[in-house]
Amino acid sequence: MKAETIAVGSELLLGQISNTNAQIISKALQKIGIDVFYHTCVGDNEERIKQVFKIAMERSDIIIFTGGLGPTMDDLTKETVASFLNLPLVLDESSLKKIKSYFDKRGRTMTQNNYKQALIPEGSEPIMNKNGTAPGVLLKFCGKIIIMLPGPPFEMEPMLMESVIPYLSKLSQKTIFSRVLKFYGIGESLLEEKIKDLIIIQSNPTIAPLAKMGEVTLRITAKAQDLETAEKMIQPIEKEIKDRVGEYFYGYDEERIEEIVAKMLISSKTTISIAESCTGGLLAHKLTDIPGISDVFDRCIVSYSNKSKQELLRVKAETIEKHGAVSEKAAAEMAEGIRILSGTDIGVSITGIAGPGGGTQEKPVGLVYIGFADLRNTIVEEYLFNGCRDVIKHRAANAALHMIRRMLETTG
Ligand code: ATP
Ligand code: MG
Repeated sequence: MKAETIAVGSELLLGQISNTNAQIISKALQKIGIDVFYHTCVGDNEERIKQVFKIAMERSDIIIFTGGLGPTMDDLTKETVASFLNLPLVLDESSLKKIKSYFDKRGRTMTQNNYKQALIPEGSEPIMNKNGTAPGVLLKFCGKIIIMLPGPPFEMEPMLMESVIPYLSKLSQKTIFSRVLKFYGIGESLLEEKIKDLIIIQSNPTIAPLAKMGEVTLRITAKAQDLETAEKMIQPIEKEIKDRVGEYFYGYDEERIEEIVAKMLISSKTTISIAESCTGGLLAHKLTDIPGISDVFDRCIVSYSNKSKQELLRVKAETIEKHGAVSEKAAAEMAEGIRILSGTDIGVSITGIAGPGGGTQEKPVGLVYIGFADLRNTIVEEYLFNGCRDVIKHRAANAALHMIRRMLETTG
């Protein structure tokens, strides 16, 4: 079944409000396996509402209007739909009663245009609105389902969830299930290249790549009779993808890298200390977002100046003179220094150039060294990140988290 939303309201076209109703409706319909193919938006104008309604009736099975159900002159949705379908508007007694009692309770007099709200197209059913006076409308017409809901989201959403979705899900008898696979250390284009044939032949499940902040995700979505079947349909595709690019895979769905690393540290009882320069404590901040980390996280030293690197982390003066504070050697000494000083199992360091100034030909903005020291040895990785200062800081902290994850995986 194909659905379409039509948001009525000139303020939407003027850019004064966003069409969040369409977003809410799309999300809810997606969950019950109904495809939304169009979001239409139209002003409070009878002629143009008719035009978009005509198009929607030709291409969609379910049409959901929001807005324009109020009592005022510019609220035209019901009138326009009824007139287009040649249906008279009839009084819905139950809605009128509700509107009357709404006004009685507040000691206000009902005006003539409030009666207008209790009118619905002949043959339709009212949808109860517990947060406002205007009822919604459910109308079956020539095999199509036409639904009208009020504009204010706090009225629209409960009506959608409590009345419309249960009704439509009975018709749809489908469910949609998605699983997101998260990858790090592989670019979007290379990942796509490696699974191109799977993307080309996709229909159900579908595979959708998405890149953000240095990581790539693949959303696999299956449509089936029930959740269990949908999950089963995803399994072979997921396995095939992991067989090809599993080395870059690190987590599912909403799971954040800091959560994954925190869990690994806590479950393996590996204590950690951190020395940060260019990230200014961001790595420690990310880790301390995770409850329970105090079991394993000892300290972080934000050591920005060369002097403090020598004083607090025992980085050698010679290292700084010869190689600079942003160097493989300095990163190694920072990681070892913090580990020994705090007596933890591992020490992690970050030193780099976040920009926008301070870069040279030899050491450009975005150059970052991440050090990892444990009892046995010290490893330093070199990165070159793109972006502004803030992005480079985030990417560096994330890269450190991924490095910790890899190291913990290999050391067991
Ligand atoms: P009312 O009885 O409040 O007039 P209505 O059903 O006639 O309700 P509109 O007049 O079209 O609805 O819109 C009322 C308010 O609802 C808007 O000012 C806006 O704040 C919100 N609204 C309307 N349409 C949308 C939309 N598509 N997305 C988000 N908010 C909306
Ligand atoms: Mg209105």
